[in-house]
Parts: sequence; C-alpha cells; structure tokens
Amino acid sequence: MLEKIVCPACNSENERNRTICATCTGSLGFPNVNLLKDPYFQVPLDSLFQESLNKAIGLNKKDLIEGFCSALDAAGKAVVNMDLALLTKILSGEDYLPYHLAVEAGKRPKTTVLNEMKRSTVEAAFYASDGMKIVYASLSLDGIGLINYGSISISLKTNTIATRTSVFSENSYFLYDRFLDAGWRPGNSLCPSGELGTWEERNKIVINKLFDEIIRNNGEVSNFPSILLKNGDGRSEDDFLELHIYNLINQHHIEDITFTKNKRTILSEADDADYMETQLLVLEEKLSSTGIDYKWLN
Ligand SMILES: [Zn+2]
Repeated sequence: MLEKIVCPACNSENERNRTICATCTGSLGFPNVNLLKDPYFQVPLDSLFQESLNKAIGLNKKDLIEGFCSALDAAGKAVVNMDLALLTKILSGEDYLPYHLAVEAGKRPKTTVLNEMKRSTVEAAFYASDGMKIVYASLSLDGIGLINYGSISISLKTNTIATRTSVFSENSYFLYDRFLDAGWRPGNSLCPSGELGTWEERNKIVINKLFDEIIRNNGEVSNFPSILLKNGDGRSEDDFLELHIYNLINQHHIEDITFTKNKRTILSEADDADYMETQLLVLEEKLSSTGIDYKWLN
C-alpha cells in the first residue's frame, strides 16, 4: 500500500522503512518522516485541510486561519519538558535519549510494567522497531510545554529537528486507543490517516484539529498559545500536538529555556535548600557559558 522510496543518490527503490539504500548504502533520511510522507498519509491530510480552508472562506474567516498559521510559522517550536536533574546532565554534554535506549544504556530505570507495555505497544503500532528511537515533544507557541512532564520547558532550534520530526494531532497513547475503537488492527493495517504528518504539515494538523476554537477566538493573539497547548491537571487531561523527534536531543539543539517554577518555589520544595541553591548557581553559570537564553516565570 505504501509507495517505495527512491534513493536520491542512485535512483533505486527501497522499502519506506529503510534508512540506508539497499543498493548504494546512501542515506534515505528518517523513517518516521518517510512513513508519513507517503501519499497514504499526505493526501487525506491535505484534503481535510482544504475542507477547513473552504469552510473558513464560506464563513468569511479565512484571515483568522491565516493569522494562526502565521503565528505557528513565526513562533511554533518543539518543546521538551524535564526536571532540573535531567537538564543538568544535558548541559554537561549528555544526550537525551529515547526511553528504550536510555533504559538499555542504564541511564534511566524502567517505568511500571503496564506503562512500559503500553508505551512499547503504541510505539511499535505506529512505527514498528523505529518507535524505539523517538524522543517526544509538544508543539508550543510560547516556549512552555507540558508541565506534567517537568517544570522546565526546553525549546528546540527548529533547524535541528525539522527534517526528523513527525507530528500527531494528540498524545499517541490516546490516539492509539481512539484508532483501535474505530476498528484499527495494528500490524494488519496501517493506522488511519488524516491526523498524522511531517513537520512541514504541522499547520494543517493544527487547523484541522482546532478549527472551531480558532474561529471562536476571533483573532485574539494572546489566546493563541493556550489554544494550541492546554496543560491539564494530569497528563491524561493535557491537550496538545505531539511531536516525534527521531534519534536524540542534546545541548546543541536547545534554543531557549523557560523555568515555569521560580527559584523560591524550587528552594522551598528541596530536601536540602543550601545544596539546591548551589545547584541553581552552577546551572545558571553553565547556561551563561553556553549562551542559551533562559527565563524564570514568576
Ligand atoms: Zn542508493
């Protein structure tokens, strides 16, 4: 059902999940993005977007859709959330690895049995073995990501992730469940198309998903970030577009950092406030020396 990938170096055809050309061993790019570049995924997504545009034209509201798309183009970033300990490691030169690779490398403990089963199942259902090589992020307009995954929001430089990032309309755990309810049988068929795409298609997925809300908002720019990403009381109440970044991220990919908890709160929550104060000083020195912009929210 999927088209073959044509090798840019030698023009031979390859299966869409290949990263290296079977003939010349040249690079074929990133498998998560290559999968979603197939017409099976692209054509329905584009049709839905054209429907959204036509609907906006019919309502005489095309400017609202274009305004939101312009904001996404100008300020939409991939944001990864984490805690202070992990950020400190990354700023010391460690890579932030996909879950399975981090567990294998002894860099993080396994999560609970059920959670790991679900994670492994969902990743394999969408991407087969390449699902193990995904780092998760959210699409944000104000640099603030999913607080339920850590109070520190790391914005990534778009030019370091765009070619290796795929986009889902929501958390893949819940999308998986919704697709199952609609009759999808992973492994026997491709997942439904229309809500998954490449980084280049992120605006289409945003507009299709949030059309009514964007029209209702009537162009109030200050509301754009919270229309795109809603932090819930718990992870299951978050509402966002999920980004899948192939391979890993490290300090060279960081554009800027937003600390959503202020220093006073961090110190008041610390077991050892003096130690934490030193840690924060070291962190700020490190950030200054690397030239990464950061801000503390009050
Ligand atoms: Zn080739």
